Amino acid sequence: AAPVSFQNVSKIYGRDVLAVDNVNLEIEAGKLVTLLGPSGCGKTTTLRMIAGLEMATKGRILIGDADVTTLPATDRDVSMVFQSYALFPHMSVLENVSYGLSFSGFSKAETRERALVGLDLVGLKGFDARLPSELSGGQQQRVAVARALVLEPQVLLFDEPLSNLDAKLRRQVREDIRAIQKDLGLTVVYVTHDQEEALAVSDEIVVMRNAAIAQIGTPRQLYDAPVDRFVADFIGEANLLPCTIEKVDGDQATIAIETYRYQLPSRGIPVGPATMAVRPSRLVIGAKDGFKAKIAKATYVGVRMEYTLEAEFGSMFAVQDDVDSPLNVGSDVTVGFAEKGPVLLPEG
Ligand code: ADP
Ligand code: MG
Repeated sequence: AAPVSFQNVSKIYGRDVLAVDNVNLEIEAGKLVTLLGPSGCGKTTTLRMIAGLEMATKGRILIGDADVTTLPATDRDVSMVFQSYALFPHMSVLENVSYGLSFSGFSKAETRERALVGLDLVGLKGFDARLPSELSGGQQQRVAVARALVLEPQVLLFDEPLSNLDAKLRRQVREDIRAIQKDLGLTVVYVTHDQEEALAVSDEIVVMRNAAIAQIGTPRQLYDAPVDRFVADFIGEANLLPCTIEKVDGDQATIAIETYRYQLPSRGIPVGPATMAVRPSRLVIGAKDGFKAKIAKATYVGVRMEYTLEAEFGSMFAVQDDVDSPLNVGSDVTVGFAEKGPVLLPEG
């Protein structure tokens, strides 16, 4: 497994479609790093530039110590798993998995041996003689994963590999991919637009917006300390509350909501209007100190209660684990923040 490095990489399609704009990125060897962002933000283009299926217009790309910027795909030690499994329909599972190996100078016996090990890794032992059409979607995608794995690439790339699977299978296959990646210590770059999937599988997430990187961090860092409204909103759910920073003292800010005062890390944001991002689970309904709100809606969803709260300055979404004594719609409550509650963000 090798690290991947992007140095000031841009990709322009045709004359003026700027798909990737001056990206700098270090992907550590043996980590699973996810590119996450809305459709059209440049994820697939970034991935294809690692594979050599697109060439960078500007900048340098390194895999390990090698500058691969202008190297054709066939000369890069990288394999890719696509959303459409792209299996050969007339070939057996074993033949599909063996296909790439047969070009890599392995003997027939060795190819077969490796392909069988690959199938075992993805939980498809005994399926070697079947045709792809005799497998479920999830099993077909596992074959595609095995086919990429057996090449033992320096970097393994996944482009929205779960999109064609139903919700239950998506969870299963993503856990399998993560387990194999960890077991074998693979460098994986994984593209998705699904934030929950990204949070679940990643060592690190690269959030992209408009061809550029919005923020890089571990799932926890992004969840607990988003840099702006876009990231706060894209990763998990967030209430974005208008507030006023009354005072900044060192790295502590005092914010004011109505008569309520609260201390928060200032994160370099000056006195004046600002935004607070608060996760739904970190609003404390019925706190001693806080701001006034009314319960506008209460929904029981089995594992928790979901509430819509109306305050003077806007409405917000809260969840509570206590499902046995729900709060009544219409009641007045005081709402405070749990520890690690809100994060200050710039106003805009
Ligand atoms: P994502 O995978 O995040 O949805 P893409 O990397 O596919 O984003 O696309 C980024 C931008 O580049 C989009 O505006 C898209 O329309 C454009 N684009 C992608 N591929 C091509 C291409 N082959 N020719 C021209 N424009 C393209
Ligand atoms: Mg894409």
